[in-house]
Amino acid sequence: MKKLFFLLIMVFLIQTTTGQTTYILCGKLVDTASGKISSKKTIFVKENKILAVKDGYIMPKGGNLIDLRDKVVMPGLIDFHVHIEQEFDRNTRLNKYILNEADIAFNSVGFAKTTLMKGFTTVRDLGGTGVNISVRNAINKGKIPGPRVFTAGKSLATTGGHADPTNGSSRVLIGNPGPKEGVVNSVEDAKKAVRQRYKNGADCIKITATGGVLSVAKSGDNPQFTLEEVKAICDTAKDYGMHVAAHAHGDEGMQRAVIGGVKTIEHGTYMSEETMELMKKHNAYLVPTLTAGKEVEEKAKIPGFYPDIVVPKALAVGPQIQGTFAKAYKKGVGIAFGTDAGVFKHGNNGKEFGFMVEVGMPAMEAIQSATITNAKLLKMENEIGQIKKGFFADIIAVDDDPTKNIATMENVVFVMKDGVVYKK
Ligand SMILES: [Zn+2]
Repeated sequence: MKKLFFLLIMVFLIQTTTGQTTYILCGKLVDTASGKISSKKTIFVKENKILAVKDGYIMPKGGNLIDLRDKVVMPGLIDFHVHIEQEFDRNTRLNKYILNEADIAFNSVGFAKTTLMKGFTTVRDLGGTGVNISVRNAINKGKIPGPRVFTAGKSLATTGGHADPTNGSSRVLIGNPGPKEGVVNSVEDAKKAVRQRYKNGADCIKITATGGVLSVAKSGDNPQFTLEEVKAICDTAKDYGMHVAAHAHGDEGMQRAVIGGVKTIEHGTYMSEETMELMKKHNAYLVPTLTAGKEVEEKAKIPGFYPDIVVPKALAVGPQIQGTFAKAYKKGVGIAFGTDAGVFKHGNNGKEFGFMVEVGMPAMEAIQSATITNAKLLKMENEIGQIKKGFFADIIAVDDDPTKNIATMENVVFVMKDGVVYKK
């Protein structure tokens, strides 16, 4: 009996000393599931989870109190298209030859922290050298601050395609990269490349279904995979529980990607109405990356910023991308919020909301695409994207009501991820 009493005391002591409850007083709270904003709520957080959300301001004695009574609180944001390893500048082409993996890793540490501090508590990394896998692991182990990362590792391309790692190199350096380096030229290569990504520790697969703006190649929109290759990639990825994202500007490559089974189309610049219908039929989502479109158009006007071969592509794609997004949205294509951060400065991800709203998407829907939609596509709809009992405590706040002032999304003033406060 004495023993049992002692045990009960111990359990009580452990419970009260490990993980105090945190009470977050919210002036306004965004419910991403209903699309409604309510007033005067209290969120209870314990360790990394949300314990409860209650009406009114509750301020019990003991526990930590976070006062956000003059703020608008919402779940942490999810950016579905970033490149956490790099940030594009005049030297990017040169960086490929002078940076070591350690340099890339140190750069990534800064980019990851910046992203988190702007309210993005989860990101999907759509391709780098593969260092992004180590970055993800370091964040998960709490070694460095950053968003929860789902990474494609290295993008897959065909020879000379948008993500061929030796594009634009001299003949001496071009070599013949194969599936291990993400370059495929057959159905067999395609399977091998996907399995290699799995082996390396990737969470999803990225392909460059058409030409791209920033690669040193003539076309920004030509199809670069056969339908059979795309199918082989998607089928193999499915075996390993990974979805496939396809970079695509041109319509033909986009159609092959959608029919082949990809889950998201990145950019979608020259998407035809026929392809929009196809997207709906196959339940594929458009990741708009409008911020990147604006950035490349602006930077292409600065002489020498991009190689000559890139300039006309940037000037053509930039002005097109926002109009296509507006059309696709109006046609009912699913929209997954994503920016292509890394093409522009990390931390400016929040600008995307303004560009979406500017052409007709209601602010609340833009926020839902960055929360519940992306959570669902990550198969984490019961863990992130909402402020709800049992979910991870990924909680952010802004000064204004975003449905009245969307620019407030660029200035996140409070960040909690996994129950840990990073910005207050
Ligand atoms: Zn990208």
